Amino acid sequence: MPTILLTGATGYIASHTWLSLLSSGFEVLGVDDFSNSSPLVLDRLRELCGTRPVFERLDVTDRVAMHALFARHRIDAVVHFAAFKAVGDSTARPLAYYRNNVGGLLSVCDVMQANGCKRIVFSSSATVYGDPPSLPIREDSPLAATNPYGQTKLMGETMLRDLGAADAAWQTGCLRYFNPVGAHESGRIGEDPRGTPNNLMPFVAQVAVGRRPHLSVFGRDWPTIDGTGVRDYIHVCDLADGHVAALRRLLDTAGCFTVNLGTGQGNSVLEVVNAYARASGREVPVQFAPRRPGDIAACYADPLLAQQLLCWRAKHDLARMCADSWRWQSLNPEGFQ
Ligand code: UDP
Repeated sequence: MPTILLTGATGYIASHTWLSLLSSGFEVLGVDDFSNSSPLVLDRLRELCGTRPVFERLDVTDRVAMHALFARHRIDAVVHFAAFKAVGDSTARPLAYYRNNVGGLLSVCDVMQANGCKRIVFSSSATVYGDPPSLPIREDSPLAATNPYGQTKLMGETMLRDLGAADAAWQTGCLRYFNPVGAHESGRIGEDPRGTPNNLMPFVAQVAVGRRPHLSVFGRDWPTIDGTGVRDYIHVCDLADGHVAALRRLLDTAGCFTVNLGTGQGNSVLEVVNAYARASGREVPVQFAPRRPGDIAACYADPLLAQQLLCWRAKHDLARMCADSWRWQSLNPEGFQ
């Protein structure tokens, strides 16, 4: 079976993808520098898959270490997750984002090229659509990043598009994630944000488990069903399966692609809060607060292209996303410890 290199392998989406790849029969080699994840993820993966994960601690911007890695392992394709991902942080520390996200991808591609490995799946984001002119969002919607994080994702896509155009041997898949939430059904791995969560569901989870008194709802005057922001929440295990489908396509079919990975369903902040309260049996007190700078009213995918190209579609609904998030949160109230 092909061997897949996962960069940023102990992160939230990557660790779930690791499990999906193993259960689909792929060999996986993971690397991470633990700058935003815990080594304990490796113990949990071992417990869940029954074998010791193949892992090396490494920073992808370290080209010497990356070359040595490729010399030691046969690698058929790369899934490049390693990146910083906090929008607000990116506006405060733009250089760190360009260095790590753009520089990291550049270093990975250089080393891949030198070693004759030309298949890569790239973690992009729906943030590349900015404030979309129409919904649902198709892949040919205009692109407009509104912050440095989004810029790094756009630049990554551009780099891969140019690479594919220059050399038909390169096969690239850009996956535009909508809003990943939930956790593996075992409750053993899940999202473990450092500090105050920026994203809605991990924040709601910490309110439900009693770590925080209430959720601040950013805006109640958006032009949406109940005045709160609408997003396309997708179960992280569906997202993980989307990576397996993308790799299968790259291994089978020449060419490059860019697809949305979303459900096509939009839910408001209050719908998420209510679904979470039902799933957890806990109260989730809310306070209304002003709009968050840079936010948009609504964002949800047209998921048709991924169905056509990858034969993939999301299966889990919001109730299941909340139930799995709650299992992880209640079993691990302080995250990985
Ligand atoms: N949101 C909120 N309170 C929070 C975090 C998020 O009301 O503490 C809202 C936010 O304004 C948006 C939605 O929840 O409408 C999803 O936000 P998130 O940051 O998870 O995703 P993104 O906005 O990046 O798609």
